[in-house]
Amino acid sequence: MIIAKNIQKTYNNSKVLKGINLQINKAEIVAIVGPSGAGKTTLLQILSTLEKPDRIEGSELTIGQQSPLALKDKKISKFRNNHIGFVFQFHQLLPEFTAIENVCIPAYIGNQNKTSTQKKALELLSFLGVAEKANHKPNQLSGGEQQRVAVARALINQPDIVFADEPSGNLDSESAQNLHDFFFKLRDQYKQTFVIVTHNERLANMADRKLHMKDGILVD
Ligand code: ADP
Repeated sequence: MIIAKNIQKTYNNSKVLKGINLQINKAEIVAIVGPSGAGKTTLLQILSTLEKPDRIEGSELTIGQQSPLALKDKKISKFRNNHIGFVFQFHQLLPEFTAIENVCIPAYIGNQNKTSTQKKALELLSFLGVAEKANHKPNQLSGGEQQRVAVARALINQPDIVFADEPSGNLDSESAQNLHDFFFKLRDQYKQTFVIVTHNERLANMADRKLHMKDGILVD
């Protein structure tokens, strides 16, 4: 699903990523763990095309069948909208829109049909146990519900892969466990692939694979 070779990133003359090689397979849940400042978020942003790595010979990123590093900015945005889902620590739902409207937005951006999008959004909200909150605004939802709506939004365009950065970092332990359980259900039922940066040990230990980062490299 993803192949990354010799990914490096320099900020202000400081090498934050020092040559990352990894492969993520379909229907795999991979956790990235490590101390603060190790480069986890930077790696996630590069793998998800939000950031560009240093231009280095032998550097490579393949997602699905495509090589996003070769795309121009406009095409990268389109690629991202069609192929990649995001879940952040803070849900980042738009406050003036209802839950279902938030879920539909990435599909509307991709010019998808309105009726079928709304049907799919409701199915996803239902799968995630928040269908009855479809017409509520984000501030009328609990933190756990907001994150589940954010997961539905990440899934609406059937992405190849979902990237999550501390998705349960802002949740109480019960809501966190509940959210994590949905990641595994989505993997089992829809073969959804996830790459998750997390400090949550339970989630990291449940993952199919745990990648440890330290000082800009992956360590065993
Ligand atoms: P982690 O997610 O493991 O805590 P990050 O990837 O956020 O680590 O950060 C790794 C290092 O890169 C840190 O020293 C951080 O200060 C630096 N860094 C991250 N993003 C930027 C940026 N946009 N500009 C400059 N330095 C950055």
